[in-house]
Amino acid sequence: MTDTVLAVLNQPSRHADPHDPSADAYTWAKPLEEHLQVQDLGAIRGDGVFETITVVDGRPQALEPHLARFVRSAAMLDLPEPDVDAWRQAIEAVCARLDPVHEAFAKTVMTRGVEGSGRPTGWVYAAPSGDQSVARTEGIAVVTLDRGYRHDVERTSPWLLQGAKTLSYAVNMAALREAERRGADDALFVSTDGYVLEGTRANLVMAVDGRFVTPRTDIGILAGTTQADVFRFAEGEGIATSYELVTLADLEAADALWLLSSVRQAAPVRSVNGVTRAMDLAMTERINDFLLSREQ
Ligand code: PLP
Repeated sequence: MTDTVLAVLNQPSRHADPHDPSADAYTWAKPLEEHLQVQDLGAIRGDGVFETITVVDGRPQALEPHLARFVRSAAMLDLPEPDVDAWRQAIEAVCARLDPVHEAFAKTVMTRGVEGSGRPTGWVYAAPSGDQSVARTEGIAVVTLDRGYRHDVERTSPWLLQGAKTLSYAVNMAALREAERRGADDALFVSTDGYVLEGTRANLVMAVDGRFVTPRTDIGILAGTTQADVFRFAEGEGIATSYELVTLADLEAADALWLLSSVRQAAPVRSVNGVTRAMDLAMTERINDFLLSREQ
């Protein structure tokens, strides 16, 4: 038994041949059966891109920003451009086929495909999300971890693919395990030259003197769809927003902190490196209400 719904794309990019010239745009598949060839570069090199999209009452949220980022990530890896119409159609189809559930997610994956084939592999699946209420209402403990790169790495070393949402998340998962070893729920990466970057799977937003501040997105971090929508919420509320270089001193001085991401949405930070932080739970609730009621 599975409540996961899976669609496999026949032609993930118009710039590469379809897998089967006579097949439909996507085919339904059974998630627990094998589909991936063992030589797929996504599996053996983490050579591919993905997106995780929140689905509320069957509605994918921030779909167009996610698709745009999928295309951007693919371009950073020199992958053939994803056919956004085909992907949108497959995402909407898996969301529609999912058993009714309030919160779910859809995950799109496009790999470089089997070595030498020149055809990317693509699939999208949707499944119910786990319960996120503890993180949203009680907050999360974070530790800062050195990412080992300067904040200008995206410009100096684009081959490191910082800022792309690639399948190579083993490093992020290792950082998460290190955070857990230190008794925390998540890690916040810091550049070697002292700038606060992002979480292992989330962006940071800080409340600072009545403003919302987030690290600049040109410093080798992922431009978050949730963070962008939280800024939209803030602007609607008359709260000023800005993208800045954030130091550890700025982090310490901020009035409240959140880690923002699809699925978990806004998680208030209750401690950093073991030091308790003030949480604005009323604002957190308003942010999460806004995020979960997005029409698109
Ligand atoms: N930063 C990283 C490294 C991520 O993996 C993610 C999402 O998974 C985010 C930020 C937040 O992005 P979004 O809000 O679009 O989910």
